Amino acid sequence: MTSVKVAVRVRPLNNREHDLDCKFIIQMDGKKTTIVNPKVSDHATEGDVGREGMRLKEFTFDFSFWSVEKLDSKYVSQQQTGSGKTYSMMGNPGDEGLIPRICKELFSNMTDQTTSYRTEVSYLEIYNEKVRDLLKHHPHNKPVHNLRVREHPKQGPYVQDLSKYIVNNFEDIEELMHRGNAVRTTASTNMNDAKFTEDMPCEMSSKIHLVDLAGSERADASGATGQRLKEGASINKSLVTLGTVISVLAEISEKSRHGRNVFIPYRDSVLTWLLKDSLGGNSRTIMVATISPADVNYGETLSTLRYANRAKNIINRPTVNED
Ligand code: ADP
Repeated sequence: MTSVKVAVRVRPLNNREHDLDCKFIIQMDGKKTTIVNPKVSDHATEGDVGREGMRLKEFTFDFSFWSVEKLDSKYVSQQQTGSGKTYSMMGNPGDEGLIPRICKELFSNMTDQTTSYRTEVSYLEIYNEKVRDLLKHHPHNKPVHNLRVREHPKQGPYVQDLSKYIVNNFEDIEELMHRGNAVRTTASTNMNDAKFTEDMPCEMSSKIHLVDLAGSERADASGATGQRLKEGASINKSLVTLGTVISVLAEISEKSRHGRNVFIPYRDSVLTWLLKDSLGGNSRTIMVATISPADVNYGETLSTLRYANRAKNIINRPTVNED
């Protein structure tokens, strides 16, 4: 039994926040992350506190990453509102993200001369509750979309007909990622989910999902209408279902053994179905919540911290995996 580990990472100020002369509202001390409500002043009376909520809210996470050297002086040189999810997954050449680090580490451990290794990767995107294969294209360069999710009685949920590529080193993976990124839906909106699977089927087989999740943004924050609104609503469906699944699992873990008969709505969204093993299953899971340090994002940052705080209570073990 092992609980889902949760990390929080603060990005530097972006241009807009810098120009608005935003105040930092995040403090980190060891495992503690504290958020300051900018509407409640140091000298707030009891009445003010009642109206606006507490001035300080403190959370404890497994890891808190505070990019000190960057927060001191520099700021993000783009007008993006993102909190740093993609950056944390991919990084850039001078500051590698989780995907390159994890993949390189995996290959560097495959050195046993008496073992033969086989590594396969897939790259998919969930968009409007549809699964798109980012590595298999139709002639006009459109990714193959609307693949079906199936569930194997022992091996769990999987995407039917998802392409897999054999890779021998991180450069092979990088090339596939570039190819997949070119057809990702990020062009229209930053709200997307991509999932990347590495598989090692030998006599012993294991799998790692690396997920870039559009999670903390609220659908209403995109100012979307029409097609965009539909996209926002479906993405929100995955987000809402993920929130529900996390809440139910967190409660089960508190009540421990009674959890067996509780219904967990994994199948209500594609995202939660595919992540079934990772949430309350027999996997090890780490969630990284990325946040802005600026007062203008107080509401969104607080809701991200609350979301992450609930995920901490999930205990992964095979017995609660039945729905
Ligand atoms: P999201 O995926 O959450 O929408 P991004 O990862 O695209 O957000 O990040 C938004 C911007 O902030 C990008 O320009 C990215 O390069 C920058 N950024 C995010 N996190 C960091 C960080 N820890 N250090 C430096 N720049 C960052």
